[in-house]
Amino acid sequence: MPFNVRPEIQQPVRDMIKEIGPQIQEMGRSEDRKPDSFSFDIFRLLAAKGCVGYVMPKEYGGGGRTALEYATMIEEIAYWDAPSSLLAAVSQLAVDPITRVGTDEQKKAIIPKSAKGELIPAFALTEPNAGSDAANQQTTAEVDGDNYVINGEKIFIMHGDVAHVGVVFVKIQEEGVRDKISSVLVDLNLPGVKKATLMHKMGMKYATTGRLWFDKVRVPKKNLLGEPGKGFKYAMQTLDGARIGIAAQATGISQRALDESVKYSKERIAFGSPIAKLQAIQWMIADMSTKLEASRLLTYKAAALQDAGEKFTVEASQAKLFASEAANFCVDRAMQIHSGYGYIGEFSPIEKLYRDQRVAEIYEGTSEVQRLVIAGNVLRG
Ligand SMILES: Cc1cc2nc3c(=O)[nH]c(=O)nc-3n(C[C@H](O)[C@H](O)[C@H](O)COP(=O)(O)OP(=O)(O)OC[C@H]3O[C@@H](n4cnc5c(N)ncnc54)[C@H](O)[C@@H]3O)c2cc1C
Repeated sequence: MPFNVRPEIQQPVRDMIKEIGPQIQEMGRSEDRKPDSFSFDIFRLLAAKGCVGYVMPKEYGGGGRTALEYATMIEEIAYWDAPSSLLAAVSQLAVDPITRVGTDEQKKAIIPKSAKGELIPAFALTEPNAGSDAANQQTTAEVDGDNYVINGEKIFIMHGDVAHVGVVFVKIQEEGVRDKISSVLVDLNLPGVKKATLMHKMGMKYATTGRLWFDKVRVPKKNLLGEPGKGFKYAMQTLDGARIGIAAQATGISQRALDESVKYSKERIAFGSPIAKLQAIQWMIADMSTKLEASRLLTYKAAALQDAGEKFTVEASQAKLFASEAANFCVDRAMQIHSGYGYIGEFSPIEKLYRDQRVAEIYEGTSEVQRLVIAGNVLRG
C-alpha cells in the first residue's frame, strides 16, 4: 500500500484513478504499438475524468486541486500507464504561467477550454540551440505597430504537433528588453506556423513531442504574457512546479516496477523454488523498495511545501533528480528479475516501462541541471 501523507486527501485521488487505470493501461499498450501519434482517445478520457484541468483555477473551470493531490494523481496514472500521466500533465505546464501572470481576458480565453481538453496548449521554451542553456533563446519578436512578428524555431515541445496555442518564449526586439526573454501567447494555427511530430521516440510515444517553426507570424501585442523581459523568470517558476510532477511520474513507475517484480519473483521457479527465495533477488527488491519510498517522500515534501506557499525550488529539484534516477534503477532491476520475460514486450509491461521511464532524467531539466540548481542553492546557504 503506497504511503499517504494525508490519507483523507490522497485516498480519494487513488480511488478515482483506479477506476480508469486498467482502461488506460490497455489503451496505452495498443497505442504504443503504432507509429508516434497523439492519443486523442486517452487524452479525452483523462479530460472527462477531470485529470487535465485538475489543478487549474476553479474560477476558470479547473479543479482547483492542491499540489499534493496533483502529485498523487500523476503518480497513480503513471503506475498504470506512464504516457497517460504526461497526457494529463502537459496542458497544466502551459497553463501555469497564464494562471500566474495572464490577464483576465487571456485566462478566460485559454483556461476553461484547456481544463475540458477542448484546447491543447503547449509550453514552448526549448530551441535547437537552447536546451539546458535555456537563456540562449534565438526566437525573435519584431515590433510592427500593434503586432509582434515572430521568427524562430522550437524543438522537443510536448504536444506541440497538435497544440492549438503556445506559450512561446521570445526576445522582443525593442529597446530595454532586446536581450531579455519575454513570453507571448501564439495561436498555433496562424499563417507562418509549421508543426511536426518528432518520430521514433524511445517511449511515451502517444504523448507526442513536436517541433514548431515560426516564419513571420503576426501576433497582436496584447498577447504578451505578463511583463516584457520577465519570461525567463516565469519559465523557471513553472518548471519548479512541473518538476514535482515528473518526480511523481517517476515514483509511479518505480512502484509498478517493484509490484511486477514481487509478483513475478514469487511465481518464477528456478532450481526447484521461486526466485524470490534467492538472496540475489531479495537484495534487488530491498534496494528498489527503499529507493521508491525515498522518492515518494521527497516528492510529497516538495508538493507540501508548494501548498504551504513556501520556497520549494531545491526540494522540487531534489525530488525530480532522485525519483527519476530511482525509476531508472527500479525498471532496470525489474528487467533483470524478469530477464527474458522482461526484455520481450509481449510477456510483461517491463519492456515498455523501461522505454517510458528514461526521459524523466532528461526533460524539465536534465539530472545534471537539477544538480546545478541544488548545488547552487546549497552553496549560497
Ligand atoms: C520527450 C521530451 C519532451 C520535452 N518537452 C518539452 C516541452 O514541452 N517544452 C520545452 O520547452 N522543452 C521540452 N523538452 C526539452 C527538454 O527540457 C530538453 O531536452 C532538456 O532541457 C535538455 O536539453 P537538450 O536536449 O538540448 O540537451 P543539452 O542541453 O544539449 O545537454 C546535453 C548534455 O549536456 C549536459 N549539460 C548541458 N549543460 C550542462 C551544464 N552546465 N553542466 C553540466 N551538464 C550540462 C546535459 O545535462 C546533457 O547531459 C522536452 C524534451 C524531451 C526529450
